[in-house]
Amino acid sequence: MSITKFIQRLLRIKAFSVRSFEFKNWYRELWLEVKPFKNGALCPHCLRRGRIIHTLDEPRVWRDVMICKRKVYFTYCPREIDCPVHGRVQEDIPWAAPHAQVTYRLEYAVLIHCTIMTQKAAGQLLKIAASTISDLLHRIITRERRGHRIRNLKMIGIDEISYCKGRKYATIVYDLQRSCVVWIGQGKARETIDRFFKEKLSQYQRNQIVSGCCDMSETFIGAIEKWCPNATLTLDRFHIVKALNDAVDEVRKEEWRKADRPGKKALKGLRWLIYRHSSNRSAEDTRTLKSLYMGNRRIHRSWVLKDEFEQFWEFSDIKLAEEFLDSWCKTAMKSRLESIKTFIRTIRRHKHRLLPFIENRLTNAAAEGLNRIIKIVKNRPVDFRIWMRFQTSFI
Ligand SMILES: [Zn+2]
Repeated sequence: MSITKFIQRLLRIKAFSVRSFEFKNWYRELWLEVKPFKNGALCPHCLRRGRIIHTLDEPRVWRDVMICKRKVYFTYCPREIDCPVHGRVQEDIPWAAPHAQVTYRLEYAVLIHCTIMTQKAAGQLLKIAASTISDLLHRIITRERRGHRIRNLKMIGIDEISYCKGRKYATIVYDLQRSCVVWIGQGKARETIDRFFKEKLSQYQRNQIVSGCCDMSETFIGAIEKWCPNATLTLDRFHIVKALNDAVDEVRKEEWRKADRPGKKALKGLRWLIYRHSSNRSAEDTRTLKSLYMGNRRIHRSWVLKDEFEQFWEFSDIKLAEEFLDSWCKTAMKSRLESIKTFIRTIRRHKHRLLPFIENRLTNAAAEGLNRIIKIVKNRPVDFRIWMRFQTSFI
């Protein structure tokens, strides 16, 4: 076996051949001169064979995946061809996309690394600058998503997500049936979400949507009610629970401000306990809660109310759930806790949007999981076409 053939086997190169190799930069870089097999030069747009006009004088360079901590580069002088349809174009490169400076398999490695870690970590591991990683991701995803159409959208979920350390917002639209992201738009204003309904969906598609799920913001509620006439709107459970938790926390903060030094000491460490669901509470947490009954009645009261409200999500009969909600609101209204009262007013205003949950159990919960992934990648690579291309050209 010749040495070039050995390198070819080692790097699992099949669709083209290695002509020569060279180590550069104190053996830190392996430079390979490669050449596609003789099947004529193809047009990158239509993959038709064209007449070769001219070979570039300067070789182009592509970066490949690292091997044993050494960077691998491919060099090749591409030829220009005359395609009967597309005219004068540079030939199709079997190992990389047109105009790309990295190979398909490095693109794939970047995508995979970025789905499981931050872009910064991926950059360090693959020895690529973080800014290049972000450019690469953007280019790959735009290329793969070109011509992507939304199909058969019946359950829609809308949510907002912050990025750039909370300075900027994006609106995300989910397909809750398939648990995937269908659209991302910049900003969280009404124009953003209106643009989605106007540009991405036809009248027929908008009428096809049977249920929608979002938080309590008027923007999203208004948009769903305006654009999807056949949809039942359900408020997202996660956001309701959060609103109640925040209300209870508001009571705690108030008490904290009023308390003297020993009182503050007694209230310490309550914050994370308040946010915990009753089923996740340890015996010690329950003891702390009970001791509050003697210590601070107001916090204790709000806490008990919060625990009682958890039952609402367990109902399976819509009538019973409504009765429960009414009676809970009535009792809670007597509590003289201002933040809880504000929450009740919200609940009363949105009651008809809260009750459908009992029947359809619709939440953005699957979407919340997706949010975490989006936070890492910013855009979700849903296509595996790159993987296919990678497979066909290398393995
Ligand atoms: Zn062509």
